[in-house]
Amino acid sequence: MPIVNILASNSAHPDVVYVCAACLKESTVNASALTLGQGQSPHAIALPPCACGAQEFLQRTFDVHPVESQAGHRLAVNALAEHLKATGRIHSAHLAAVAAAPTPPQVGRLLGAVPDSSLPARIAAKRRAKSEPAPDAVAAAKAVLEAAKAAYAKAVGAAS
Ligand SMILES: [Zn+2]
Repeated sequence: MPIVNILASNSAHPDVVYVCAACLKESTVNASALTLGQGQSPHAIALPPCACGAQEFLQRTFDVHPVESQAGHRLAVNALAEHLKATGRIHSAHLAAVAAAPTPPQVGRLLGAVPDSSLPARIAAKRRAKSEPAPDAVAAAKAVLEAAKAAYAKAVGAAS
């Protein structure tokens, strides 16, 4: 469900990085594969189904004061929706409704990471774990370094 990043790509459309709320798999889709308007809603954007079978939707919203914890995600979704609208990527069944809808009062910049603070906790935790080396890996690397130092000191001692 949540967008975690929107990146510039080689095409006229950005790449949208999102995380599956069901299995936490991170996927990337170019915005040229997305359309604004889905099913009954002129404000929904369907994401490609995840390999786990989950099918998720982004919903642009018109709240003036979004829930603080979701503000970053909402700004990103609204920015993406405005991009799709501006580039004509609108579902044919919803052309009139999209044209009639106002611009949401809160639209973020199109490109950039959604702050961890506005992502569901388990998704934010997974992204942190990915960007920082695991504590175990750091401890293991230190142990290797200490062993190498000890071996070096021993070898130097033996040579003199
Ligand atoms: Zn999934």
